[in-house]
Amino acid sequence: MFLNLLVQIAVKIFMASNIYKNKTTAQLIKIAVRHFHLFIRRRDHGQPCISCGSYNTSDASHYFSAGNHSVTRFEEDNVHLACRKCNYFLSGNLIPYRQNLIEKIGQERFDQLELLVNISKKTGFKWDRFSLIDIINKYKALNK
Ligand SMILES: [Zn+2]
Repeated sequence: MFLNLLVQIAVKIFMASNIYKNKTTAQLIKIAVRHFHLFIRRRDHGQPCISCGSYNTSDASHYFSAGNHSVTRFEEDNVHLACRKCNYFLSGNLIPYRQNLIEKIGQERFDQLELLVNISKKTGFKWDRFSLIDIINKYKALNK
């Protein structure tokens, strides 16, 4: 029975990594972003824009930008529902975002996020295929 379960899990993992075997890392990031952003929009559904408080929300907005700080691209604490104006036209509208983010997740979790960004600035960070496939599978399952 237990062995059967293990075999099923192994087959699932094999199939999952096989689906993505011809994808480049950039393509895997795109797929991961799609599933992760859907998760964020559902998690924060009904909440106002993290930056300005508007209820006209549509975007998953990064506090530490995804382009400059790849390491926090898929950190749930770093990404929150926002309106298009703040996220896109005001590049996150970061001054009120920071204040509201600290209110939402607490100073300690905010500091951890900042620490992660600062460490990655010194050491460099790049997503690898296996971590990306993990993220895709995690958020695919959570979004079901
Ligand atoms: Zn806004």
